Amino acid sequence: MMQLYQPLNILGFAYREIKQGLIDMERMFELLHVVPEVADAKDAKPLEISGAEVVFDDVRFRYDPDREILKGVSFTAKPGEKVAIVGPSGAGKSTIARILYRFYDLEGGSVRIDGQDLRDVTQRSLRASIGMVPQDTVLFNDTVGYNIRYGRPGATQAEVERAAKLAQIHDFVLSLPKGYDTLVGERGLKLSGGEKQRVAIARTILKDPPLLILDEATSALDSTTEAGILSALREVENGRTTLVIAHRLSTIVDSDRIVVLREGRVVEEGTHDALLARGGLYASLWRQQSETQSLAAE
Ligand code: ADP
Ligand code: MG
Repeated sequence: MMQLYQPLNILGFAYREIKQGLIDMERMFELLHVVPEVADAKDAKPLEISGAEVVFDDVRFRYDPDREILKGVSFTAKPGEKVAIVGPSGAGKSTIARILYRFYDLEGGSVRIDGQDLRDVTQRSLRASIGMVPQDTVLFNDTVGYNIRYGRPGATQAEVERAAKLAQIHDFVLSLPKGYDTLVGERGLKLSGGEKQRVAIARTILKDPPLLILDEATSALDSTTEAGILSALREVENGRTTLVIAHRLSTIVDSDRIVVLREGRVVEEGTHDALLARGGLYASLWRQQSETQSLAAE
């Protein structure tokens, strides 16, 4: 009896741990409005990163059978490059981020990182290599410290605080009733969109991944905070492949390449200057935003 009891006890412990993890994952998927529908291939191997080159090759994708969202999207981010994806809302930009994180499988084409098809690598290794600051950050029902440390569970308190300072959230955390031990999320203190984004940025700085995806990472921030965080993010971006989805074009002017997406197709691609000279969709988006900005400044 005793012999049986011990393993069961250990199993029970493991079960609770796993279950807690699953609840977090499920909650995250639920809040991201996605369903976990991809599985590792039977012979999936860990992703091996050399320079973190990302290739989208004729990617076709749909959420629902009756509407194609990505209609043959191709672009490359070479090792260490910062590539921006811009375009009208609904064009499919966030979908590209979710596909790279492999929340979904494709209908056609392929996505490769350093030559390895996402379908052939383990999701665990893929997600360990990517730092993602999503459009809508979901916090776990835990302390703010846990939420930042989640980027690298072994990190020391000093490392957590350094990341929080870079993400300009440290002073705010210190102002909370229990500092880093304050409970946040659905069952704790509700943070604003901008505060959640900064927690996600701190988490990503701590994770220190070879590949970075920023999906409108600073969209919920006022322009002063945005300027500070952008300079912190430039430090993180430095030397690693970065895919940045931006609404405010002023934040991506310095990109190595800008991919302009409209209705699920790449319609233009080039540097900021080249795209302005071209006088197409990017140039008109840029003009619109410059006008709104100068109006706002008056
Ligand atoms: P963007 O980030 O460029 O604004 P998205 O990639 O979020 O655009 O969405 C592209 C299109 O896909 C939109 O028309 C959107 O309504 C649709 N879409 C996004 N997520 C889902 C989903 N989970 N199920 C069905 N349709 C979706
Ligand atoms: Mg989006």
